[in-house]
Amino acid sequence: MSRVLVLNCGSSSVKYRLLDVPRSPEPEPVVVASGVVERIGEDAPGAPRDHAEALSAALAGLPLDGLTAVGHRVVHGGLTFTAPALVDDVVVAAIAELVPLAPLHNPANLAGIEVARALLPGVPQVAVFDTAFHRTLPAAASTYAIDAATAERFGIHRYGFHGTSHAIVSRRTAALLDRPLAEVNTITLHLGNGASACAVEGGRSVATSMGLSPLEGLVMGTRSGDLDPAIIFHLHRVAGMPIEEIDELLNRRSGLVGLAGVNDMRALLARRATGDPAAALAFEVYCRRIRSYVGAYYAELGRLDAITFTAGVGENAPAVRAAALAGLDRLGIEVDAARNDAPERGARVISPPDAPVAVCVVPTDEEWEIASQTLGVLAA
Ligand code: AMP
Repeated sequence: MSRVLVLNCGSSSVKYRLLDVPRSPEPEPVVVASGVVERIGEDAPGAPRDHAEALSAALAGLPLDGLTAVGHRVVHGGLTFTAPALVDDVVVAAIAELVPLAPLHNPANLAGIEVARALLPGVPQVAVFDTAFHRTLPAAASTYAIDAATAERFGIHRYGFHGTSHAIVSRRTAALLDRPLAEVNTITLHLGNGASACAVEGGRSVATSMGLSPLEGLVMGTRSGDLDPAIIFHLHRVAGMPIEEIDELLNRRSGLVGLAGVNDMRALLARRATGDPAAALAFEVYCRRIRSYVGAYYAELGRLDAITFTAGVGENAPAVRAAALAGLDRLGIEVDAARNDAPERGARVISPPDAPVAVCVVPTDEEWEIASQTLGVLAA
């Protein structure tokens, strides 16, 4: 049995999960402990001063004797990392070089790695990247149509995110359908606070909606997703907004919260049920964007076997699943109302029995995927 500590360090929080992984071909992990330490750096009584204090607090009292490894979620691996990496000074320096591409995330991830190395000397540490799963994107899908020399010089490229989620969910979809991963083409829809779509061809990511950063693509809780880039020039020139303010507007005050005043899908659905027109429009915009990506990725894949919903909204909001795929029956995509509305929790199919495209709901488990990739690195 292996014991793996999974750490997800954000700018103001540390999430941790301690997993026991039995030695078996298809291990089911056991969660030994999990939790979150929040409000890092806040000027409030009891708030941890920095990541070192937060992580020490998180690790105190955890049964870490005989710990096999620590797996770290790292948001941006750029083009450097196509796979998880055993952490050493070279890997740390490479993650630090990518900070300009993820100025909020990578410094926090690095802080977690540095503190864990200091607190747990001798325990192997592995960095697992959100971007790595998408390094199989064909050049035509990862290239932005801007001046090639400028793009090359400044790393302008579709990196994609939520890779650990799209990876585990596409594998679990193939398992649910009882088919070999290599033969299954899936569109995975990770709909959480952040949201992204991915076209997975036989287990390989071939298209994804997030790009240089996690701002592009689907409508999210607080992020706009796709928009005309000229909107940014317009806000700068005509509204006189500084770039920092536009950045904040698009990342923190757009999406569902910008349209309807709430970033939480449960709250949005509750408002929509009372007849609030702003909530109704936000819901339509959100679902329509998903439908557009499903159409686009169906065309990219040519043959589609499954569409899989995952994460907080994808797993728990039947209304979103039904509306996002409404009107696509001519494409072989149908949601069975009774199956969709059933209060089940596990991996399941919600399309009618003989539908050409299986519509699925599959719980994601990014911590388990990080733990399993971590053990994979140690075994290699
Ligand atoms: P995640 O980032 O995966 O934790 O997802 C968070 C999102 O899932 C939030 O917008 C929540 O409102 C949404 N969510 C969680 N549970 C439900 C539910 N039962 N119905 C609708 N949305 C939900």
